[in-house]
Amino acid sequence: MDGLINKKIFLLDMDGTIYLENTLFEGVVEFLQFLKANNLKYLFLTNNSSKSVVAYIEKLNKMGIKATKDDFMTSSMATAAYLKNFHLKDNIYLVGTKSLKEELESVGLSIYDELNDEINCLVVGYDTELNYKKIEEATKLLIKGVPYIATNPDLVCPMSYGYLPDCGSFCQMFKNATGRTPKVIGKPETYMIDAALDKYGYKKEQALLVGDRIYTDIASGNKANISTAIVLTGESTREDVLNSDLRFDYVLNHIMELYEALKKIYK
Ligand SMILES: [Mg+2]
Repeated sequence: MDGLINKKIFLLDMDGTIYLENTLFEGVVEFLQFLKANNLKYLFLTNNSSKSVVAYIEKLNKMGIKATKDDFMTSSMATAAYLKNFHLKDNIYLVGTKSLKEELESVGLSIYDELNDEINCLVVGYDTELNYKKIEEATKLLIKGVPYIATNPDLVCPMSYGYLPDCGSFCQMFKNATGRTPKVIGKPETYMIDAALDKYGYKKEQALLVGDRIYTDIASGNKANISTAIVLTGESTREDVLNSDLRFDYVLNHIMELYEALKKIYK
């Protein structure tokens, strides 16, 4: 695999890339240990803004991966970084979970869950604690015309029994009522990639994004102008890849093919 020698940070999607629901792919623990041992950084990228990082750490721990907060870049963390850059002094109304509120407050942002005249920004996340009061107050702010930011565009969140409406569906509901659409932070936008490279000080040419979804993972990598590898262990088939207009630097049957190629470089 050409060019792999320059890659120093690996941005890894989780579901469909390193595990499928609750089953970790074979060899992943060893692969991650190999990356660490060779001073290669990896980060797990996820659009999910309802679960706190703590919940992901627990999930990975159960699978045998020792993870800390520094191993993640979530849409919540990227939203916090974005708001810190552009809305630090604003009074922000949040339609989101308690864990998202804490994430945003941890970077010094002023977050509200009650309407007042000083509020001049609206953030919507995958709010699993949503109620009609929040819907009504957010709608009033949208009508007023305040800047509007959404953590992620996903319409649904997969559950064992089917799907639940995710942040993107909430935004559709607000669009129906007000005509407004948000600035979106999560994949397929590039803010998570930008925030990850910025936080750890890597250049774009040092990054490789690995994911299973063409229209989110690969799209964000293309848009951010970094290299991408699609793995065929999740949502996409080889046919999907052939039919896509996007740029794939590597097409892998399994993430273990990346491990094998890196082993040849870092002997
Ligand atoms: Mg995935």
